[in-house]
Order: sequence, then C-alpha cells, then structure tokens
Amino acid sequence: MPDTKLMQIPGHIDPVPVPRPGLVEGVTPREDGRVDLIGLPKKRIAELFETAGLDARAAKLRAKQVFHWLYHRGVIDFEAMTDIAKAMRPWLAARFVIGRPEIVEAQHSSDGTRKWLLRTADGHDFEMVFIPDADRGTLCVSSQVGCTLNCRFCHTGTMRLVRNLTTGEIVGQVMLARDALGEWPKGGGTMAGLDDFDEDGEDGGSYSSDGRLLTNIVMMGMGEPLYNFDNVRDALRLVMDGDGLALSKRRITLSTSGVVPRMAQCGEEIGVNLAVSLHAVTKEVRDEIVPINKKYGIEELLQACADYPGASNARRITFEYVMLKDRNDSDEDARELVRLIKRYKLPAKVNLIPFNPWPGAPYECSSPERVRAFSDIVFAAGISAPVRTPRGRDIDAACGQLKTAAEKKSRAELERLYAEKEKALG
Ligand code: SF4
Repeated sequence: MPDTKLMQIPGHIDPVPVPRPGLVEGVTPREDGRVDLIGLPKKRIAELFETAGLDARAAKLRAKQVFHWLYHRGVIDFEAMTDIAKAMRPWLAARFVIGRPEIVEAQHSSDGTRKWLLRTADGHDFEMVFIPDADRGTLCVSSQVGCTLNCRFCHTGTMRLVRNLTTGEIVGQVMLARDALGEWPKGGGTMAGLDDFDEDGEDGGSYSSDGRLLTNIVMMGMGEPLYNFDNVRDALRLVMDGDGLALSKRRITLSTSGVVPRMAQCGEEIGVNLAVSLHAVTKEVRDEIVPINKKYGIEELLQACADYPGASNARRITFEYVMLKDRNDSDEDARELVRLIKRYKLPAKVNLIPFNPWPGAPYECSSPERVRAFSDIVFAAGISAPVRTPRGRDIDAACGQLKTAAEKKSRAELERLYAEKEKALG
C-alpha cells in the first residue's frame, strides 16, 4: 500500500492577486534575471535569442532546435542539446533556464491515481492529478492558484485567488507529468534537417504515441480556466503543437463553471472539447452551488453550449453533475436535465460525480441507489450518463476537482469567505 498521508493545504493565501513587477509579457519571471523558456512559442524564443545577440537567421534556427528539445524531447539541461554547438550551450545557460514547477509533495493512491503539490518560482502552491484508466491516462491541470469563484462543492472554492498561472506554469504541469511518468522519447535526438548542427553525431530518438500513459488532458484543476484565458490558450497551443508535445485537441477538455462570454472564443481560438460544471437545473439551486449562475444563468449557458464551435455528436459537450444528497439529485431534477438538453438540442453527455466531502463541506453525497436512479432516467432518454468512479479517495483527489486536504476552516469562516466572494461577483 503506497504512502497515503494527507497533503497539507498550502500556507496562507493572499486576499488579492499578487502584483508582478517587471513582468515581461509571456515570460515567467525569475529572481536571477534569466528567462524561463518553458511557456514560450518558437517565434518568441527566436525573438529572445535575437535580443540576446544572435543574428536573425541563427536565432530562428536555434529557436527551432531548442523548441524541439524542450517540448518534444523534454530535456531540462542545455548541455543535453547535442545538435547545438558545444560553445553555444553555456551561452544559453547563462541567459535562459528550462523551468519546471517545483514538486513539494507527490502522492500515489492505491488505485494508481497520482497527485502532486507543486510550487511556482515565486512560492505559490497548486496541484495536479494524474488518473490512469484501462484505455487512457488523464492529467488534470490547474489554471490558477486559488479561484475567484466559490462553487460550494469545491474545496478550491474556499480559497482566495492568489494569481493566474503563467503559460509556462500551465504547460509545465504537462511536462512534469511526462517527466514523472518517464514518457519522453529515448535516444540522442537531433532534428531532421538540422543535422548540420549535430556535433556529437547522435541519432534521433524514437517517439511514438502508442502505449503512452498520459493520453488526455483536462483543464479541470484549481481555478476557472476561462478567467485566465490567454495563458490557458497559449499553453494548450503548445501542448497541441505538432513539433512539441503534439497532443490532439480531441484529447483535451476544458472545463468551465460557465463563463459564457468566453465560451465561443474558447472554441474558436483553442478548439478543444468543452465540459461545463452544470450541477443543478434550477436557478435557485445552481445560484447556490455554482454562484456564477447569478451572472450567467442556465438558459444563457446552455445557449452558449448550443453555439459552441465544433460541438457535434462526435464531439459532445460534457455536463459535469456532482450528486449532492437532497439538493440536486431527485427524479424531477433528472427529468429537468433531460428536458433542458433536448430543448437546446445539445450533443451532450452527462458525467455524474459522487460528491467527495471534505471536513466542513456543506453537503453530503447522494446514496448509490439515488445516483443510479438519476442515471437511469437520463440514460432512458438516450443521453449517456455514466457515474464516475471515485478515484484516489485515499489521497483526496476524486470528484473531478483538485482539492487540498482540508484546512480546518470553521463553518463561520467558510460562510464569511463565501459572502465576500459573492459580493465580489456582484
Ligand atoms: S469548481 Fe472550479 S470554478 Fe468552481 S470554485 Fe472550484 S476551482 Fe473555482
């Protein structure tokens, strides 16, 4: 049985986003003045190389090589870039770094689920979870440290937002997972067509997607990804880049609590699958469970889903529905869910998620019989409604939301925090 001790909640979380003086656009800041290349597209890397003194042609070529080593090969040391001239490698190392989020703690569940507590270079903690299944392995990626929203079933909702994660910190999670799973290609690895720069004469590494552990990504960790749209978009573009991590957009899902004004843009500019944290079918209950509903109501949300670019029966929208005892789990709720999906003609599937309570949580999980009855009604209407098997319960990683082990907040403290966030939400 692996070590299953509970993870401590990250320390005190600031009430407001931390200002980031001297931030160069798209660049994760570092105290030593070097620039972290992780999170930057090829073009930006070339610009930085040129600014650092290379001529335009060399900068472009080096950027192409370095990009390949960073995102396709996963190297973390310039010395390992064997097709870059030996004398050039210290020049790069003096000016640039290849960052990864720091691992504060790694946990391994008895069911194979793995969870990491990670730290940014400026000392903020966030989480990432890997969930292996028979036919796939899904990495649940965070987009923010904390969250501005306060979905009541979600432990992250009890934290204040510290700041958005940068593009590098988002794509860095995927790279760190590949490090941990040992999924970078083996071999020396020069780029085809660039062998004029190959000093060491090593061969290219084999790189096959067959048999990979990490096959899917869900933006469903800490934070609301559509409230950090630009960084999430840029990170996912790097994940999808055929010269880099090369994951298909069909294997990436972005989950939103319902930031309606950004949904179409998400479909157009990122093009990944969409999941929506629906969790309730009446205004009264959704206002309580997912308070952004007060701003963007159910009808508006479902219309945005109906308009989502690229949604079809082959690429259905997933509706996440956490099962909360006596709150959203009646037969009537199930029938209303079916009615809404049909009314908006949504190519939909519903994920039913048994609630995984934490100390101080305001809800209990529905009984297995109730979850089954709810699922049966939705299935009977021709809509897929699988019950998601709780995973990683022994490391507190289930329910589709990353949650830190519960900090002992009193109910009164939670209520105060909820009230503050609701006020901020308007
Ligand atoms: S469910 Fe997502 S959007 Fe809602 S509070 Fe949790 S992290 Fe934030």
